[in-house]
Amino acid sequence: EIMQAGGDTIFGQIIRGEIKTDFLHEDDQCVAFDDIEPQAPVHFLVVPKKPVPRLSDAQDSDEKLMGHLMLVARAVAKQKGLSDGFRLIVNDGPEGGQEVMHIHVHVMGGRQLTWPPG
Ligand code: 5GP
Repeated sequence: EIMQAGGDTIFGQIIRGEIKTDFLHEDDQCVAFDDIEPQAPVHFLVVPKKPVPRLSDAQDSDEKLMGHLMLVARAVAKQKGLSDGFRLIVNDGPEGGQEVMHIHVHVMGGRQLTWPPG
């Protein structure tokens, strides 16, 4: 797993430490860090070290990893004090608005969020 840490995107560079970024969380499977262009008072990303490009590319064998991202999102949200709630978003592909092709979970909170997100 460590051998394939990273990948070719900017998130790969962040994971490998080539772009200095403060991690809110790091373990053997993923990292979490604040989004550079926050859309809410709290907006961070949970990113697996395995460079799965998008959710559409995830395999059955990635099931535990995908679940792990959600539980890390929850833990960091708690750490950030989001006791009144928060939102997870996974953008997939062009129509999903995905810009960085390394799967990631957005976590947003700290204000009243509206629905639908648009
Ligand atoms: P996507 O549209 O792919 O779901 O979201 C990519 C997210 O990554 C965007 O919210 C964008 O602001 C964030 N982002 C892009 N480049 C960087 C970076 O270099 N550092 C950090 N911290 N966030 C980034």
